[in-house]
Amino acid sequence: QGDSKAVDRQIDSICPYCGVGCQLTYHIKDDAIAYVEGRDGPSNHNRLCVKGRFGFDYPNHPARLTTPLIRKPGVPKSLDPSFDPAQPLTHFREATWEEALAAAAGGLVALKTERGPTALAGFGSAKCSNEEAWLFQKLVRTGFENNNVDHCTRLCHASSVAALMECLGSGAVTASFMQALEADVVILTGCNPAVNHPVAATFFKQAAKNGTEIIILDPRGQALDAYATLSVRFKPGADVALFNAILHVIIAEGLYNEAYIAEHTEGFEALKQSVALSPPEAMSELCGVEPAVIRDIARRYANAEKAMIFWGMGISQHTHGTDNARCLISLALACGHTGRPGTGLHPLRGQNNVQGASDAGMIPMVLPDYQPVGDAQLRSAFEELWSMPLDAQPGLTVVEIMDAIHAGLVRGMYILGENPAMSDPDLHHARAALGKLEHLVVQDLFVTETAQFADVILPASAWPEKEGTVTNTNRQVQLGRVALPLPGEAKPDWWIIQEIANRFGLGWEYQHPSEVFEEMKQGMASLNHISWERLAREGSVTYPCAADDAPGQDVVFSDAFPRAGGKAKFAPTRPLPPDEPVDDDYPTVLTTGRQLEHWHTGSMTRRSVVLDALEPDAVASLSPGELIRLGVSPGDPLTITTRRGTITLAARVDSKIPDGMVFVPFAYAEAAANLLTNPALDPYGKIPEFKYAACRLTRGGT
Ligand code: SF4
Repeated sequence: QGDSKAVDRQIDSICPYCGVGCQLTYHIKDDAIAYVEGRDGPSNHNRLCVKGRFGFDYPNHPARLTTPLIRKPGVPKSLDPSFDPAQPLTHFREATWEEALAAAAGGLVALKTERGPTALAGFGSAKCSNEEAWLFQKLVRTGFENNNVDHCTRLCHASSVAALMECLGSGAVTASFMQALEADVVILTGCNPAVNHPVAATFFKQAAKNGTEIIILDPRGQALDAYATLSVRFKPGADVALFNAILHVIIAEGLYNEAYIAEHTEGFEALKQSVALSPPEAMSELCGVEPAVIRDIARRYANAEKAMIFWGMGISQHTHGTDNARCLISLALACGHTGRPGTGLHPLRGQNNVQGASDAGMIPMVLPDYQPVGDAQLRSAFEELWSMPLDAQPGLTVVEIMDAIHAGLVRGMYILGENPAMSDPDLHHARAALGKLEHLVVQDLFVTETAQFADVILPASAWPEKEGTVTNTNRQVQLGRVALPLPGEAKPDWWIIQEIANRFGLGWEYQHPSEVFEEMKQGMASLNHISWERLAREGSVTYPCAADDAPGQDVVFSDAFPRAGGKAKFAPTRPLPPDEPVDDDYPTVLTTGRQLEHWHTGSMTRRSVVLDALEPDAVASLSPGELIRLGVSPGDPLTITTRRGTITLAARVDSKIPDGMVFVPFAYAEAAANLLTNPALDPYGKIPEFKYAACRLTRGGT
């Protein structure tokens, strides 16, 4: 860290990376961030992880887009291995904003005129501020005139949200992760907070030191095992078998909370009958956990006075992801572990604004605040607000849009900040779809893998260059401020969306993101008593908030759930196999995810000097036993093949990975993990099965 006197100014903002939403201060020297310090925010208490502390220099990367670009005639739409994103003028030419906006919007308007509204779709991003997300979904709904708008929540927690909406009537967490400090027992399942939510992990460690029992349920080991009372490995994809067996014990031994169930829930009898079929002895082989251990987990959780469950994408990214989340909800409801301090259900949200972007309606089946597009009464409120009729038909989701492009149904797209050429499953299929689009507009900081398919690229604003609100995993709405000037011709994202909207004839006249926030408050009851001025003054307000001077509710649903009758619902499930079980040809489980140092598709962190130096190369992590079996040493090339593709990358030993599994991070374009992944979808959340694909490992390169 530098000397604060040596910098020109200090700007308070929020970390641009994960859903923890750490508050920080940018220290600026010569219009560049010199260093970053944590602030005393409600979710970080001055702490930052390596990404928040050192991942700040990407806005100044030499390959940063500073002028609009238009594809040169005759350049094929594909990923060209010889293309250098730092030298985009080999494939694109520079354009003025007027020319680029005319081309960007003109191509979309022409397709709508020729082919009808459903020929268009939009991907926003959880990197968008709330105001940008609101404007983007409003543009799709009122300009494109359909609901084909989605973003990376579909690849992240869509199944968790589907289960929470169904069972509780609300898709957000019921309590902040700080409540872990009040809990007697905390279950962490399908999550790896020390890697993916590092500052939240520090509070779990603190809770453990204070006496909270931490129970970790996961196919893989993790750093927090050292703090756990119980750390249990189960077979990949066998989540429902394990959870139903735990529920069986709770019911068979009478450990459930009868009074809570009677007063606050419905459907318990159906759950009881369903889990009667899942005694630990019957489920043990399926999930790989001894019956005695299953009983121990059940008793510890059910007998606790206060207990919480946290989960991540190990739960959600399965074809049975919604069922997994339904089971966790049933556990909490059966034991009455919601609605009080130290209790609750908490899907740890991934990106810094995936909660807010979802709240703001960047989802194809719901309007802002999760109001179904098919509900005429709810829809009419937005028709009145926007003075436009709205489509009642739910739109297509991320993977469905790629399929619709191949089917010739979707022909033009506007992609803001998302990188589906890296983040979608089965990338050969997704990239072929992007190449088929008749018109693609990409708005981003760099010529990402997706932007290489674009007809027009619009240079956007990085987080430290913009003002806007974001909502973290704890439902805390927080304000980010402008710390850096925009480079070259780059523009604020809200301004670009508005320019496109006005070329659809929408006549928007926003002058500042705060005006967008004011409009959001008219359509989103969740923002009641939260104002721009208040956020500027207080930095953070939790929703729901009951009064202009109240701090907001950290724990919700103490009295009733937001469902008809006020009761939560049990949703029984039964174990289903993964879509693509291992077999003799593909005997190893491929699972994918993030690393501590790299963020999602790497578009920001791989352009951050310190983070890229810490983790410069694509690696595949395997158990020591698996490496010996393959005759591979750490660092040797290893080839991974699935039914969809092949990649070669360096082997790394990791004793936390079980035998029979390989873990590959998805941030590396040179060995893109998603060339391998299975696009099979959960039927409810429409999320792909990133956490389980059958693969074959071979020593050496291809
Ligand atoms: Fe940023 Fe998340 Fe790290 Fe906090 S924990 S500094 S929000 S990446």
